[in-house]
Amino acid sequence: MNSFNPDSVSIDRSSFIGGEFAATGGTAIGVFRPSDGHLACEFREATADCVDRAVESARSALRVSGWSDIAPRQRAAVMRHWASLVDEHRVELARLESLCSSRPIAETMGRDLPVVAELLRFYAECADKSPGEVFDTARGILSFTQHEPYGVVAAITPWNVPLLLATAKFAPALAAGNAVVLKPSELTPFAILRIAALGVRAGVPPGLFNVLIGSGAITGNALVRHPGVGYVTFTGSTQTGVTVMCEAAQHGIKPVSLELGGKSPQLVFDDAPDVAELASLVAASLTRNSGQICFCGSRLIVQRGIADELIARVLDEVRAVQAGPTWHEATTLPPIISADQANRIDAIVKRAKDAGAQTLVGGKRFEHKGGQFFEPTVLTGMDSTNDAVRSEIFGPVLTVQVFDDYDEGLALAAHPTYGLAAGVHTRDIDKALASAREIEAGTVWVNTYGRGNDVVSPFGGFKQSGFGKDFGLAAFDKYRRIKNLYIRADRDQRRTAPRA
Ligand code: NAD
Repeated sequence: MNSFNPDSVSIDRSSFIGGEFAATGGTAIGVFRPSDGHLACEFREATADCVDRAVESARSALRVSGWSDIAPRQRAAVMRHWASLVDEHRVELARLESLCSSRPIAETMGRDLPVVAELLRFYAECADKSPGEVFDTARGILSFTQHEPYGVVAAITPWNVPLLLATAKFAPALAAGNAVVLKPSELTPFAILRIAALGVRAGVPPGLFNVLIGSGAITGNALVRHPGVGYVTFTGSTQTGVTVMCEAAQHGIKPVSLELGGKSPQLVFDDAPDVAELASLVAASLTRNSGQICFCGSRLIVQRGIADELIARVLDEVRAVQAGPTWHEATTLPPIISADQANRIDAIVKRAKDAGAQTLVGGKRFEHKGGQFFEPTVLTGMDSTNDAVRSEIFGPVLTVQVFDDYDEGLALAAHPTYGLAAGVHTRDIDKALASAREIEAGTVWVNTYGRGNDVVSPFGGFKQSGFGKDFGLAAFDKYRRIKNLYIRADRDQRRTAPRA
């Protein structure tokens, strides 16, 4: 019912600056459909001059519109209207999102677009619900805090769940009174451009929200360095996060928040509830978006008593997936985003096998009607030094390690560098709480895995998975500075007080 013809989708072909689609004039960048390898369009990359224009138009929109000074409820009204336009245009936006990404249409229609609208509504609600504090001080002193926006927020986002992850940044930043210049991944620009145009229709002042299409090295780098940017919010790989943090420090000591890579464990004890349901969760975590999810539960760490049954069920589940293009409703195994990424997955799996791993299912890349795919792959027989266990693969590859006792399970679940998320499966609440405390990760799911449609709970990693949260009230707060006003209020009274 939701399937569509990719050639019938109308796309916007330039960056969005100052409230309109604008010529940029850099080198040509091709955007390809990963499902069939077709060139969807060529963009002119946004150069450093375009970054200047976008940041200046954001600053001017802030000045002219008074966006940060109006009553927060007025900002909220605009954002609620924007959310209703997103609902109205759901089909068109979902198709734009699926066209050049790895997001199947069933997921963009059923999850991504509803969550995008909900994020706009959630942050609209936050706009006036989180006031400053008044402090207990000496009589005659009034000390309180006010929140102020940073000004222009630079947001840089990845290709894997493009629209939803971008909205998780621009919605709270705008609701908090900032302007935003967003650089989405150059591989997946279409839906976010259309959302920006809908924002202007909803009443977002032209120039307050700009979208620049270009590479990380040119557009992203110029944006992070720009002196007019007050805050940098980034989601992407740990390697790029390091560069972004260094550049932000060297060009203005700008505050940054970093949502980076992960290698998340699913720790399953013998007393896990409902093995059939658990097998579906583990398999879905592996195959959804073909494993191209930051919190993909790609390390199954399972206690011996339940291991054979769980693994057999996971294998049954992953064998049932249906590879296909993102525009087919029935697709449950979408393409890998690019040939480079498919090569990288292939190389890691080959190295794992060379180092002694056995393949229980899958293990190979394949081409399907011009798209690059990778078979859902389950590897076993490895220790924690194996590359497949340590490196973020960002593909449908699950490693399995079996343990005997609690301490061994916890030791296997630990990762030397990443700390994004983890799953713990047990009926024993004491064991669940104790292991959740032990595991160094920003999120621990117990007897479930993944965020579903949740916009309320904060998400973000520990260690080299980054710092700062997206989603929830925490994300709204990070786009506001705290100013303390300390007022001596008794001065005149003391001057006029009668002398004793
Ligand atoms: P990436 O780091 O290659 O690119 C991310 C973004 O940064 C893109 O827009 C890219 O153009 C830009 N960029 C690249 N170099 C830059 C530079 N020097 N300066 C400024 N910007 C630059 O990541 P990707 O391949 O797009 O995404 C996959 C990665 O993102 C994975 O590691 C995944 O775990 C991570 N991710 C993390 C989360 C999270 O919430 N923690 C969510 C999704 C994806």
